[in-house]
Amino acid sequence: LSDKLKGLMKKVSGQSTLTESNMQEVLREVKLALLEADVNYKVTKDFVNRIKEKSLGSKVIMGVNARQQFIKLIHDELVEVLGGQNVSLNPKNNNKQNIIMLVGLQGAGKTTFAAKLSKLSKKEKEKVILIGADVYRPAAKRQLQVLSEQIGVEFFTINDSNDALLIVKKGLEKASDIEATTIVIDTAGRLHIDETLMKELEDIKAMASPTDILLVVDGMTGQDAVNVAKKFNETLVIDGVVLTKLDGDTRGGAALSIKEVSGKPIKYISEGEKLDEISKFYPDRLASRILGMGDVVSLVERAKDAIDEKEAKLMEEKFRKNQFDFEDFLKQFKMIKRMGSLGGILKLIPGVNLGDFDMANAEKEMKKIEAIIYSMTLEERRNPQLLKVFSRKNRIAKGSGVEVADVNKLLKQHENMKKMMKMFNSGNIPGFGKFPR
Ligand code: GDP
Ligand code: MG
Repeated sequence: LSDKLKGLMKKVSGQSTLTESNMQEVLREVKLALLEADVNYKVTKDFVNRIKEKSLGSKVIMGVNARQQFIKLIHDELVEVLGGQNVSLNPKNNNKQNIIMLVGLQGAGKTTFAAKLSKLSKKEKEKVILIGADVYRPAAKRQLQVLSEQIGVEFFTINDSNDALLIVKKGLEKASDIEATTIVIDTAGRLHIDETLMKELEDIKAMASPTDILLVVDGMTGQDAVNVAKKFNETLVIDGVVLTKLDGDTRGGAALSIKEVSGKPIKYISEGEKLDEISKFYPDRLASRILGMGDVVSLVERAKDAIDEKEAKLMEEKFRKNQFDFEDFLKQFKMIKRMGSLGGILKLIPGVNLGDFDMANAEKEMKKIEAIIYSMTLEERRNPQLLKVFSRKNRIAKGSGVEVADVNKLLKQHENMKKMMKMFNSGNIPGFGKFPR
């Protein structure tokens, strides 16, 4: 491998074993990341403690350094806390209708989300009706009507009424008339939770028997969002949460706290003012975002898939006995290939700035090496000593379409690798730690 690549690999590889001290260091970072992402302090503390317990006794996977593996463990735990899987809407009542009631503070994004959800549902071939029952803000009904026209779904409100209950009642009648399959009810919010609002929402709930009461919370409000979720859930018993404004620079840590505190799943996230900017909530994506760690997770997963455990063990054995030959070299290449392109792999590692690193050249280099090894006889691959003979080198160079100098370079690299392995086996390599046994 080229020197540049080697340097890069060294930079990203860090510790190869998980020790008490580097674990502490990573945990500190994670704690900071969580607090920075606006996760509640107590939730953070409990979380980190759970990780500590779980990580003792976890095994290091070959090919992925311990630190990354540890972060993966943390990530998985986060996913778990966030609910594991995506949770969809509850089933329709009598197989007929989804009645989705949106609640939340003023400005949280209810009306916007009502429109987004309607658009999404329409795409999924639902017959949608939007009911505008926000009687508190003067322009609210009109706002929803305009949105419904934009999307092309049915809309119902009573313009000159401020009786939210009546609007919902009539709206549901219309929904039945037109055989709507998805009914979205937009309700009023307040700047702060108050009795009148809660009473109104409870009444609507009792009358409409929604299949889902979704609490819409502004993801940027952090800790406040947690208190809001707690209060709404206590009074209304919500079915799920919608986290909005995740397009801002918030990392979405509120989600973690909300799930911990309310025990209710986050079902959707809203990531912008445009009507398409809605997604179902996937815990793994948010977990990565909270940790702010690029895509280490998919890297580790790919490595796990690509690396045959048995093969890895065998390779380790060879490393130790210093028998690593060109056949093994080829096998390693194949593993890397199975993980995807070299560029793709490096890009997944956070903190790696590829900058002026010549990716195309590195991949070309790898192909060249592969070609050279393919031009060796099996005997030569297994016994690199044979390659000291010039005529063999010459033959291989011709066979693989390279210069003899390239073959020499590869032999030199192989020598260096063997030397490195010797160091591994003898104990410590600066920056690498002891090779896992
Ligand atoms: P409501 O009072 O709960 O109905 O909130 P609205 O739906 O009227 O939204 C309040 C403001 O937040 C509006 O200016 C929306 O455009 C904006 N908004 C809603 N959802 C999002 C989002 O996901 N991202 C961003 N950037 N803005 C949003
Ligand atoms: Mg509104």
